[in-house]
Formats: sequence, C-alpha cells, structure tokens
Amino acid sequence: MLDIYDLKITVPEDVREILRVLRDNGFEAYIVGGCVRDAILGKEPKDWDITTSALPEQVKSLFSNTVDTGIQHGTVMVIRHGIGYEVPTYRIDGEYKDGRHPESVTFTRSLAEDLKRRDFTINAFAYNPETGIVDLFDGISDLSDQLIRAVGDPNARFDEDALRIMRAIRFSAQLSFKIETVTWAAIARHSENLAQVSMERIRVEFEKTLLSPNPEKVNLFRELVMDRFLIPDPEIRKKCFDPAANESYRLLSGEEERLRPLRLAAFFQNVSSEQARSALKTLKYDNKTISSVSSIIRNKDRVLNNDKVEIKTALCEMGEEIFSMLLDFQEAVAGRKGFLDPVRETKDNILKENEPYCLSKMEINGSDLINAGFPKGERIGELLNILLKAVIEDPAMNRKEELLKLAGETQQGGTNGGVS
Ligand code: ATP
Ligand code: MG
Repeated sequence: MLDIYDLKITVPEDVREILRVLRDNGFEAYIVGGCVRDAILGKEPKDWDITTSALPEQVKSLFSNTVDTGIQHGTVMVIRHGIGYEVPTYRIDGEYKDGRHPESVTFTRSLAEDLKRRDFTINAFAYNPETGIVDLFDGISDLSDQLIRAVGDPNARFDEDALRIMRAIRFSAQLSFKIETVTWAAIARHSENLAQVSMERIRVEFEKTLLSPNPEKVNLFRELVMDRFLIPDPEIRKKCFDPAANESYRLLSGEEERLRPLRLAAFFQNVSSEQARSALKTLKYDNKTISSVSSIIRNKDRVLNNDKVEIKTALCEMGEEIFSMLLDFQEAVAGRKGFLDPVRETKDNILKENEPYCLSKMEINGSDLINAGFPKGERIGELLNILLKAVIEDPAMNRKEELLKLAGETQQGGTNGGVS
C-alpha cells in the first residue's frame, strides 16, 4: 500500500500562498478532491481545488484581488498572476429533491463534513503541507487497490445525485480502476435516475469515457440499460454500443481535438451520416464536431487508392483534416493499422510540394475570368471546375496565362457544341 506519510505534494506557489494567508489568519485551508488524487498518482492535476473554513466574506477581506463567483454557495475566486482560484467554504449539502442538486448548502467549520459530501473515496482527500494528507474514508487503500468506491452509503449517494453514476464509470475508464462491488450494485439499482441528468452533463461524462484509455467502458451504458438516456432514438441506438467497435477505439489515439471526432465516428460506425448528425445534435455537440464526424461516416466506405489525382480530388472534396482522419478511421475499422500508409505518404507529398487541389489554391478565380471577358453567371463556376480538374491532373497548368488560354479554348469548344 502507498505510505501516505511519505507523500509530499508539490503545490504551485500561488496555491501555497493562498493556503498560507488563510492559515496565518487563523483559518484552515486545504487543496482537495481530484487534484490530490492526481498528485498522489503522480499525474499533473488539471486544476487545483481549494477548500477553507473561512467564510466567503472573510476570504474576500484577506485577498486584494477577488471575484464573487457564487457567494451564496460559498465561492470566492482569488486571482493571482492572472489565474483565478476558487476558494469555497467548507459546506454541507442540503436535501436533494431532484436527484441532481441539493436544495440548499450550509457552511460548516468541519473539514470532515465537507469531505463527506464528496462522491468517491479517491476524490475525498484533503492536503496541506502542514497536516499532510487527510484521508477519512480509506481512499489511499482504494487508490492502491484501484477501486472506485462511494463515500458513505452508495445507494443514498446515487439517489442524491445520479450524475455520480456516470462519474463512477468515467473515473473507472480514465484510471483503469474497477468499481467496487457494493458501489456497482447501487449503480445498477439507480441507473433509471439518469433521466434526471441534463444532456450536457451526460455528454461530458460519456465523452471523457470514450476518450479515455478504456473507451469500451461506454458499453456499460447498454449493460446498465441507460443507453436510452444517451441515444434516445431507438433506430440509432440499436446500431451503437457494438462490442465490435472496441477494436477500432483501441487503434485510434492522439491529441484530444483529433481523437474526439475519430472515436465518435467509431462509436457511430454502423449508422448513416444523417443519423450520426442527428444523434450528435441531441447530445448537444458543437457544429464542428458534428460536421467532422458526419463527414468521416459519409466517406467511411470510400475506396482510397494510392493515386495522386484521386487523392487530390478527395482532398478537394473533404479538406486535409477530414481526409487525414479518414485514413486513420478506415484503418481502425479494418483492424489493420498502416495499410493506408502509401496513401498517407502520397497525401503528405502533395501537401509538402504545395500541389494545388482546390479552387482556393488556383492561380485564377472568378473575377479574373470576368475581367478577361467571360460572361458573368453559372458558366464561370463550371469553367473554374474544368480548370481545377486540369490543375489537379497537371500542377504545371496552375499559371494564370495557361488557365485563361484553356478557359478560352473550353468556352469556344462549348459554344461550338462540345468541350474538346
Ligand atoms: P477531473 O480530473 O475530471 O477534474 P475531479 O475529481 O477534479 O476530476 P471535478 O468535477 O473537478 O472532478 O470536481 C472536483 C471535486 O468535487 C471532486 O474530486 C469531488 O470531490 C467533488 N465532486 C465533483 N462532482 C461531484 C458530485 N457530483 N458529487 C459529489 N462530489 C463531487
Ligand atoms: Mg477537477
């Protein structure tokens, strides 16, 4: 087991200073929750949550630069070097009536009370350099056993707030931890309560699970019969949560921005691009993600030959970003990484050589044609596309005089009854 007496957490100077000021003025102050968990695990915490016995007004009086971010809930933000740190007061949550939010919160002087309301033992640590780690619920032992366990009575905790069901799955996916059996049984008993959680919150936790090192854990939605809260349309739903997609998830990796559309496309690989679009809209995804995922799905069966003209035509139709994602996607779905490497190489060469493949990369545009005397109207667009085709086939054609000449010849051919 981890020896908690040996643990020293390196807290950023600004956070340490906030803890110090509070302590020097007779208050308790700790870093708390996920940042302590991550620091113990040797991971860089994403954010540093602080908690204190000082009341919001007292926090405000001790720091020169503060913002009220929710004074009625005990939250003041202290600004240091341009970064805001929330400094909430220890609190007890009141009764939960809607299965998601407490009716009220009460400030308390007891750290233990504040830690009791937290969701899992591994999220209920507090730490400061003087006291070291405060672990009231055997979180350290759960960390070393790699277990997600609810704080207190799991049935009561999931009854209070159904979002915790999804958080349990998400942490288990992110950390590769098991969900402890009693906690799991309570999750299974309360999965219906997910109806009380907003689509935005469901999406956030679903996505964190899908982008984690254990993306197949999204299938727990089906196992727990809560898949309808994620994908309400039964036609779309029945084609998702396919265990066959697990292999595709595994073969997709990389930066979050790129991984998001790719793993989502893998999740929706059995549905049409229109269905994927509609499901993503219901999940309240942003337009860019919706458009990327549906483009990948629309092109999922497109044959990508190692042929320069075909590749440039595809680049023109879908853009570099989607084309490059499509290569990864097709390999992942086929379960064969690398088989499209020759296409990838040709594409990289086209981009490196700056070979023109779309209208914006041509040395001529509609105004040039009009200025050269071609009549305005639909024909200009048709002409440009004919010129583009010529440039895609032969990049040396991408010179204004050449293109004007070709436009003239084409126009003449066209008016004389056919393009040569
Ligand atoms: P992440 O790494 O995703 O930020 P986190 O554990 O820090 O994980 P946050 O959502 O930032 O999660 O919340 C900070 C802390 O607040 C948690 O560690 C936990 O102690 C507490 N917490 C957050 N959401 C809940 C909840 N729904 N119920 C109970 N406690 C919660
Ligand atoms: Mg956090």
